[in-house]
Amino acid sequence: MDINSVNIEEIVKQVLAGMNGTAPAAGAGTPAAGIPKTAHVAMLTSLENFEIKEYPIPELGDDDILVKVEGCGVCGTDAHEFRKDPFSLIPVVLGHEGTGEIVKMGKNVKKDSAGKTLAIGDKVVTCMIFKDNPDITMFDLNKQNVGGADVYGLLPDDDMHLNGWFSDYIVIRGGSTVFNVSDLDLYSRVLIEPCAVLIHAVERAKTTGILRFNSRVVVQGCGPIGLICIAVLRTMGIENITAVDGEQKRLDFALQMGATKTVNFKEHKGIEALAGAVESSFGGHLADFAFQCTGSPVAHSNIYKFIRNGGGLCELGFFINGGDATINPHFDICSKEITTVGSWVYTLRDYATTFDFLKRAKGIGLPMDKLITHAFPLEDINEALKTNLRMEGLKIAIINK
Ligand SMILES: [Zn+2]
Repeated sequence: MDINSVNIEEIVKQVLAGMNGTAPAAGAGTPAAGIPKTAHVAMLTSLENFEIKEYPIPELGDDDILVKVEGCGVCGTDAHEFRKDPFSLIPVVLGHEGTGEIVKMGKNVKKDSAGKTLAIGDKVVTCMIFKDNPDITMFDLNKQNVGGADVYGLLPDDDMHLNGWFSDYIVIRGGSTVFNVSDLDLYSRVLIEPCAVLIHAVERAKTTGILRFNSRVVVQGCGPIGLICIAVLRTMGIENITAVDGEQKRLDFALQMGATKTVNFKEHKGIEALAGAVESSFGGHLADFAFQCTGSPVAHSNIYKFIRNGGGLCELGFFINGGDATINPHFDICSKEITTVGSWVYTLRDYATTFDFLKRAKGIGLPMDKLITHAFPLEDINEALKTNLRMEGLKIAIINK
């Protein structure tokens, strides 16, 4: 059947229907068919207690976008909020690793933050919400990361309430960054935010000039962050990767994600033996570069011993304050001339790079989808967060029906 004639027929039908005042909704500014009057959000109302609340879907401003949420990953930050509310956000709609489909747009919305066109039906993710900070922009690349900027899912509650991705609808307000990612499948889109953290870390590592095509690299910690780190390194063509963790299941998965060797620290008594195991994993060499992906101060202290003289280190494990770590400045830094960088969240450019990374990872057969080990419907969000706190599985996600 000729697709163009079908489209024309559709358009004619719509025009005729419009004359009768019963036009099916379509196009910018007009409500699409099938949008309910109310949305549901998972509101964290007290510690360890989400309640599903229903609110009216508001009128959209000319720069706003209404997104039907398809899914959202559960982040360590969500787990901390759930358990302790360290950011004093309660009541709050959490969820910042979300994605969904545009169902309605204000008339001014034409393009995403990378200049791609936006239309109803497109799949999107958001990054940060612009504040009055000229140093954080899409076009002044890598000047500053988004640390301190607002993101949906970590906003205080307001009259609109549709502020987080643990919901069935979210309103993306004008001034936010939004990316058209219609060419990625749902699980890939749910993984964009955590993957951007690793794209940024590797970009930071590259600034040392030490991380190269044939480097020997240690990745310490095989939670989702460490595992994605291995995947990013693999897509860059780094072949010599040793994964260090205390759980055999995670180490086995690290091999699937592209690690070449694993070291289970529980099998080695004392740091000397552990460093020796890392060294033999590289055939008698220490690492050129190391990524520290755990939140353990002891792990930070240990990692210097895995690195050769003149090597480099990227520390990205401490997304919350895990306490002080002891190092020996003489042995660990000065005499070895180790170049250290810290890494924190990402820039907008890293976000755009992440889309390509996800395609490449799939292209070379890395099982990225397997990172999402649990998918819960929105109404089971309390169980989802408890599963995360029990450290079961890897990435837990809320997936809407
Ligand atoms: Zn996160």
